Amino acid sequence: MAESIFTKIIKREIPADIVFEDDDIIAINDINPQAPVHILIIPKKEIATLNDLNENDANLIGKIILVAKNLANQKGIAEDGYRLLVNCNKNAGQTVFHIHFHLLGGRVFGWPPG
Ligand code: AMP
Repeated sequence: MAESIFTKIIKREIPADIVFEDDDIIAINDINPQAPVHILIIPKKEIATLNDLNENDANLIGKIILVAKNLANQKGIAEDGYRLLVNCNKNAGQTVFHIHFHLLGGRVFGWPPG
């Protein structure tokens, strides 16, 4: 897999607005936000899509969801609610092939999604 833009951010080869980081995960503000809060939560491990996950990644994905919950609290969107989503491949509009969870909040979202 070619080095993704998110790996370049993890390696500090390009800048980003980092809001959380530990040994396994980085979270950054989306460069093109779709809501007042739009954070990308990204595993440092290069996994292209949801389809490429395996059993060994279960703990990592659980940790990402906990990071999302904590960031939602920090950003003050937990009580009103928020959306946590992953786009997989072309029908969902995935553009960066390095798994990332979108944490979106600060406005009302429609359902079903467009
Ligand atoms: P997806 O369509 O799910 O693959 O989402 C990719 C997301 O990455 C989009 O919301 C982009 O705005 C965002 N993005 C792309 N490049 C950057 C960057 N350099 N820094 C922050 N967010 C980015």
